[in-house]
Amino acid sequence: MHIKELVLDNFKSFGRKTRVPLYEDFTTISGPNGSGKSNIIDSVLFALGLARTSGIRAEKLTDLIYNPGHEDEANDFSGEREASVEVILDNSDGTLTRQQVVSAAGTEKIGDTEEISVRRRVKQTDEDTYYSYYYLNGRSVNLSDIQDLLAQAGVTPEGYNVVMQGDVTEIITMTPGSRRTIIDEIAGVAQFDAKKEDAFEELETVQDRVSEAELRIEEKE
Ligand code: ATP
Repeated sequence: MHIKELVLDNFKSFGRKTRVPLYEDFTTISGPNGSGKSNIIDSVLFALGLARTSGIRAEKLTDLIYNPGHEDEANDFSGEREASVEVILDNSDGTLTRQQVVSAAGTEKIGDTEEISVRRRVKQTDEDTYYSYYYLNGRSVNLSDIQDLLAQAGVTPEGYNVVMQGDVTEIITMTPGSRRTIIDEIAGVAQFDAKKEDAFEELETVQDRVSEAELRIEEKE
């Protein structure tokens, strides 16, 4: 599964509806400083609910709505406005089953699942009021539905699906032990380590019970 296309509408510096096609293996986006390259990554984090606002370089969600005068402190709210980002996933390899998508959307009426559309809107209605909406193949859902579905494809907020500027330096300067933890997480080994730890804990409890029972038997004998 991979991201096939992003559709940014009024998001950050993208004042007009902009389609960003992404290739399966590798896509490079180049442009001058401040032209909006990082805003494209922010749009993915925003739509898939993978980061808090600080992670998408905004103080509040409404800062993500296109605002040509956004650097102007005295810029007052001027009527209802909204931003939207749609992430179109190519699921033709069946990473997510139709049943998984149906269960997240809460309805069978989701069309074809070879392509999965995750869309998020943020709408500001007055100075201090805003709403955030998520859609899965056009159906209104909650963030947890999106997160649960994506987790089944290995996409999680604490995962390394999106590697931000600075992450690479952090990984390089980490201790070998911490780096190993990250590699285990990426390789999917971490979940088995956690299960192994649980099993050992359970085994210890059982061993304690066995020793207790043996003591009692000895006492009776
Ligand atoms: P660099 O190469 O320097 O990292 P970049 O191409 O990654 O730059 P971004 O950081 O994605 O650029 O974009 C920054 C631009 O986005 C700035 O010009 C900023 O003014 C603009 N911007 C951010 N939020 C908004 C907004 N809500 N409305 C309009 N423009 C915005």
